[in-house]
Amino acid sequence: MSDPRPLKNLDKLGNLSCANCTVGNCSKLTKSFPDFCLTTNAREGIVEDVTKRYVKSPKDRKIALAAAEIESAYYGRATRVEEILIFIEKMGYKKVGAATCAGLLNECSTFARIARAKGIEIYGVACKVGAVDKTVIGLTEEQKISPGSHESMCNPILQAELLNEEKTDFNVIIGLCAGHDTLFIKHSKAPVTYLVVKDRVLCHNPAAALYGANTYYRRLLGPELPK
Ligand code: SF4
Repeated sequence: MSDPRPLKNLDKLGNLSCANCTVGNCSKLTKSFPDFCLTTNAREGIVEDVTKRYVKSPKDRKIALAAAEIESAYYGRATRVEEILIFIEKMGYKKVGAATCAGLLNECSTFARIARAKGIEIYGVACKVGAVDKTVIGLTEEQKISPGSHESMCNPILQAELLNEEKTDFNVIIGLCAGHDTLFIKHSKAPVTYLVVKDRVLCHNPAAALYGANTYYRRLLGPELPK
């Protein structure tokens, strides 16, 4: 069935986006689309073309279906840990990698224990693997947390390459730093999901800063980043 909604070209409203939207009508079509809506203003044909890609790529379609089926069957019941394991099972992944922060080895090992109890083996690689000193990539001694001592750099490219060599079917990130995770995702051959998003201040719950942006974390709305 064709979609009756008109597709216009983005014009002067172009700088507004979903980041400015408060209605989210694209979810259930029970409200109204804002003037700048990306659904109604998208370049003509792009929605249809991209939708066809799910059909053309069996791999992408399988992932999209598995994720949607999990959302439907376990909505509000399964924890993220469980959702990931259900996803692994549904996808038939045999070898699963964990790209873990070295500071979260306990959490990685707990995840592996939970997975093993369901018959899923986890192969973990810690961020400090290779033990290459931070100065090798240009960090100065003064920029180390403890200047004058060996400090291994986070090595997300090596994490990805070691998991690539293990031919993992799927990789799970456990607390990699912002930016290091970018490199890991870039170099991982297997598809990737997140279990833990690192936030050293908020116990790995970065959304807490957003929930508190009008109260305790009001400073976040100012123009300055922490010095
Ligand atoms: S697609 Fe439209 S309705 Fe949906 S979040 Fe973006 S602007 Fe809002």
